[in-house]
Amino acid sequence: MTEPKRTDIALKGIGVSPGINIGRAYLVDGGVLETPAYCYLDSSYVPLEVKRFQNAVKDSKEQLLKIKDKLFKDGKGKEHIRIIDAHLMMLEDRMLIEDTIKTIKKEKVNAEWAIKLVMREIREFFDTIDDEYMRERGSDIDHICDRVLKNLMGKRHESISEIKEEVIIIAHDLSPTDTAQMIKGKVLGFLTDIGGRTSHTAIVARSLEIPAVVGLESITQKVNAGDTMIIDGTSGLVVINPSKKVIKDYQKKRGQYADYEKLLHHYRKLPAEMRDGRRIRLMGNIEMVEEIPSIIDHGAEGIGLYRTEFLYLNRKDLPTEDEHFEVYKNVVEKVTPHPTIIRTLDIGGDKFLSQMELAPEMNPAMGLRAIRFCLKEPFIFKTQLKGILRASVFGNIKIMFPMISGIEEIRKTKAIMEEAKEELRKEGVTFNPKIFVGAMIEVPSAAIIADMLAKEVDFFSIGTNDLLQYSLAIDRVNEHVAYLYEPLHPAALRIIKNIVDAAHNAGIAVGVCGEMAGEPEYTLILLGLGLDQLSMNALSILKVKKIIRSIQYSEAKKIAETALTFSTAHEVEKFIREEMVKRFPDEYI
Ligand code: PEP
Ligand code: MG
Repeated sequence: MTEPKRTDIALKGIGVSPGINIGRAYLVDGGVLETPAYCYLDSSYVPLEVKRFQNAVKDSKEQLLKIKDKLFKDGKGKEHIRIIDAHLMMLEDRMLIEDTIKTIKKEKVNAEWAIKLVMREIREFFDTIDDEYMRERGSDIDHICDRVLKNLMGKRHESISEIKEEVIIIAHDLSPTDTAQMIKGKVLGFLTDIGGRTSHTAIVARSLEIPAVVGLESITQKVNAGDTMIIDGTSGLVVINPSKKVIKDYQKKRGQYADYEKLLHHYRKLPAEMRDGRRIRLMGNIEMVEEIPSIIDHGAEGIGLYRTEFLYLNRKDLPTEDEHFEVYKNVVEKVTPHPTIIRTLDIGGDKFLSQMELAPEMNPAMGLRAIRFCLKEPFIFKTQLKGILRASVFGNIKIMFPMISGIEEIRKTKAIMEEAKEELRKEGVTFNPKIFVGAMIEVPSAAIIADMLAKEVDFFSIGTNDLLQYSLAIDRVNEHVAYLYEPLHPAALRIIKNIVDAAHNAGIAVGVCGEMAGEPEYTLILLGLGLDQLSMNALSILKVKKIIRSIQYSEAKKIAETALTFSTAHEVEKFIREEMVKRFPDEYI
């Protein structure tokens, strides 16, 4: 327990949200943690550990009382009930309870380790007793401590939204909902065992501008609460208990990063214009209204993707039409005169609705998701559509439908929208009858018939996160196949080209709103493929704008044409990297 700490343990994961921070580790979750021993806890953690222990004891008592009740009802043997009574008494035992709390406070260890230490002492005491019956009671101690331990380890330390000190969160996994509760400034970053670059957890981290590294595989086993951690969300590097020298190096790196961000600020007010005058609409992606100031501050010309499902998460009821209306009105008023593209509910996959009991699915990413769910639940869908339509008179709102896979689906969707309009007309409520309607192209079938779909809508937005997931058959949240997630795969480039050409032949605009749009190393190709619009997280906007302003459209087209001749993603990557090094030697060496 008093072993000296190992320093400078470096781990490499998938950097999904940029930025460098140094802070204390805070372990969350625990369903998969081994019994951990965290020593030298910072004093601020001690009351939290005591509370966790007390809660685990309370849960253990409740569970035992339930078992006892059931045994009574089942008429089972009295001896079982006596054992449970004995266990319940032990949970009141001063030696066990008070000594554990004292140990947490005195030794500054986590609750799990404290109870193990106390249990060992009690066991030693029982083992010295001559009486066999009494000696056997020692195993009751094991059972009761096991129960408390399980309750401790199966529970979160506390709700993420309640974290008060500045920490780096370590978890096996975090849901997009967990992440959405994080507060920038309090949460300095997070690290998880699993996850991929385009998981919604990663997307939310980028939106909140919280550095994050995922896919670290066993970080929860390697870190103790209170350890000092360095997180570098750009490179995906993590250092546990860094030495003074390493801390200094990273502080310097953090300073350089901040300087670079400052330099980029120069591009804020400049148009996203290529050297020959071709304008690209550069927009921001948001999940929550609170992100708008940062998006605008980074010079976005509107919101290209508003993921409205976050309105439905973290609550017990469904949003009402009025609530939808108020939120969208607020958004559009903040973004006007620029457009706001509101994406209708995209639930399912790695996001789920707590209000609805949906049957578990074998393949949720390919299951009852997005528009499929909305068409099955037209009332929920229409409630949202009416809210959007009502807000459409307050600015430039466009509606976009996720996961459209074919013509019938888009027609059914539009029919429900017409019903929503008709209902509003009958109610005498005003809305923009000419509101633009777009389809997200993120299912391979939609990409293949893009020419047909283009006749049905006013614009396309390519959801590369899902389009790549489905066309390359790679689960976007699975760290084990993350290496196959290749946006520069020749198939991906061909598919994007097909969609862009189909849109332009039909005279409609086409953008990318998946994470690919915000990766500077893909910008030259996307420009050359003819994309009209790119929508991304706030932190990428200026980096991408710098690249847009550096090149002529004709040059970019040549780059895209050459990229399309390669037969592997690695070849394309090498070619693009060379182009980037040539054009931006300071940043891409
Ligand atoms: C996409 O799939 O690229 C997209 C933008 O939608 P989401 O990431 O929310 O699925
Ligand atoms: Mg998608």
